[in-house]
Amino acid sequence: MGCLLLNSHYNTQANRNINFLTQILTVADPAAVTYPERCDEGADLQTLDSTIPKLRIDSDRLRADFEALRHIGLTHDGGVNRLALSAEDLAARAWFADRIEEAGLRVCDDDAGNLGAVLPSPDPGAKTLLIGSHLDSVPNGGHYDGTIGVLAALECLRTIHDAGLVLPIHLEAINFTDDEGCWMSMMGSRALIGALNAEAFNDVPEDDGQIRAALRLAGIDLDTVEQAARDPEAVLGFLELHVEQSSRLERANVPIGVVTGIVGRRTYQLTFTGSAGHSGTTDMYKRRDALRGAAMFIVRAHDVVREAYGDGIFNCGDIDVEPGSFNIIPSSACIDVEIRHYKPELLAEMETALFKIARECAAVCALEVESKRMLSRPAATMAAGMIQAIESACVTLGLDHLPLVSYAGHTAQMLSLFTHSGMIFVPSVGGIGHHPDEFTHWDDVVNGANVLLQTVLDLAYGGVPGTLT
Ligand SMILES: [Zn+2]
Repeated sequence: MGCLLLNSHYNTQANRNINFLTQILTVADPAAVTYPERCDEGADLQTLDSTIPKLRIDSDRLRADFEALRHIGLTHDGGVNRLALSAEDLAARAWFADRIEEAGLRVCDDDAGNLGAVLPSPDPGAKTLLIGSHLDSVPNGGHYDGTIGVLAALECLRTIHDAGLVLPIHLEAINFTDDEGCWMSMMGSRALIGALNAEAFNDVPEDDGQIRAALRLAGIDLDTVEQAARDPEAVLGFLELHVEQSSRLERANVPIGVVTGIVGRRTYQLTFTGSAGHSGTTDMYKRRDALRGAAMFIVRAHDVVREAYGDGIFNCGDIDVEPGSFNIIPSSACIDVEIRHYKPELLAEMETALFKIARECAAVCALEVESKRMLSRPAATMAAGMIQAIESACVTLGLDHLPLVSYAGHTAQMLSLFTHSGMIFVPSVGGIGHHPDEFTHWDDVVNGANVLLQTVLDLAYGGVPGTLT
């Protein structure tokens, strides 16, 4: 698989704009350069400073895309089912590829099924700025999660293309495979950053060959999935527009969130083991009740995280009790535990503190306790240069903005391990996410898309502030 040049539009434009590009790449003071507003023959020349801030995405065209895509996987209660690699997901990809072709852009897919639109620079050695998110959904999820990030990214390319601007960078609007983890969490982004190989698919629990069947159906060959890895030297950075999925922006009545970091997440199974016995005849003070130890741990863990780790998250989402009867003392209680924090050192500290509490609770109840780590995803810090560029775009557009930590995982989390990454949030009404009622006012989607566009243009002509020389 690879990039497919669907038209030769840029080859002809390249000749016309080569002088313009030479100026950009060699003149020390970009403000002194005269930029073409359009690339059509005979077009008036204007300065970039007057053209770029006026450029806006086409809200109606973006809305038409959103409405069309809404019907692919629409559920009876208004949600969306586009599980990664399902028939609906594949239909959404085909629809996306059609839109790319229709816009006269390059379709580019890779060996992990990531699918993108490319607006190439005439300079073949230029770096690529990746923008995008995901079109897959959780079961019966919402229509905004991921989708607006991909559609707005495509709309940015179309807007720049239609304006005839030729960028000194390659620009790619990308849909990442299985961001939601139907088969393997962040499969596409992991592959792109070179952190996925065929062996990783051997470790997926409870898989009876379905993953491989689904991958085959989508044309993904595990033997070549490693080839989706990109060269970090060839990438300028990554930007993702996404709905906030919590209510901080709505509460503050601010239209744009500038993400500063994304929480790290660790999950565990903690198993408390005691002794089963007759619930009626065993002395209350002599029993080794595994559930009592687990319950004590859950309450204390909640208290400690709330009191000592204000920005930290603790959750116990499931309990499996054995033997599981009204009249038998539980001999085993296995709990599913999750912790999140955006500061790596505090995430590690929380883990140590919670394990200590687990041992103390086990000791009080005369139990043994064992832990098994199920997942560890590092906290991510967004690049200072990207934060600065997004904030600057908000100022240009006259939009208030708020720095925010993301408590949900996102593509940008994975990409931040690989390149300068930034994230733009738009408000979610009621803070609802992963639910059919997920909703973002259209004006907010448009604002987010315009911030994405403005940030792209600033980065294209100015580089990532503070990170490029
Ligand atoms: Zn998402």
